[in-house]
Amino acid sequence: MRIIVKQIPEEGLYLKEQIRPEELDLDTDLIKLRSPVNVEGRVTRITNALTVELDVRADFSVECSRCLKEFEWAVEKNLQLNYPLQASDVFIELNPDIREEMILDYPIKPLCDLNCKGLCSKCGKNKNEGGCNCGST
Ligand SMILES: [Zn+2]
Ligand SMILES: [Zn+2]
Repeated sequence: MRIIVKQIPEEGLYLKEQIRPEELDLDTDLIKLRSPVNVEGRVTRITNALTVELDVRADFSVECSRCLKEFEWAVEKNLQLNYPLQASDVFIELNPDIREEMILDYPIKPLCDLNCKGLCSKCGKNKNEGGCNCGST
């Protein structure tokens, strides 16, 4: 997602875009983006700087680090980004900063539920779905 500096009118630029998952490269082993990321916001130019205010919405599919079940995770985030402008700047590329801001919120150990009971260490059964006969607690 690029902003062409010359195209920003004095009153600011309204933005509404979808960024394709492959442009953001947000996937990790446990966390996958399920659909394009929705971005809406405003760009304002002040002599030597751009201020970009964005509402970012993304839907992820996450694997629970305890029971390995997939669950949905919706993220909605408000970003405020600032870019100093050089006279030679033709455009500003926003994707790297959007990516970084989203990844900041990634849980290190995602859980489907705070009380997720995980898998039985003996038989591998998902203990959220009932007990097993191994006698482990
Ligand atoms: Zn779980
Ligand atoms: Zn078991």
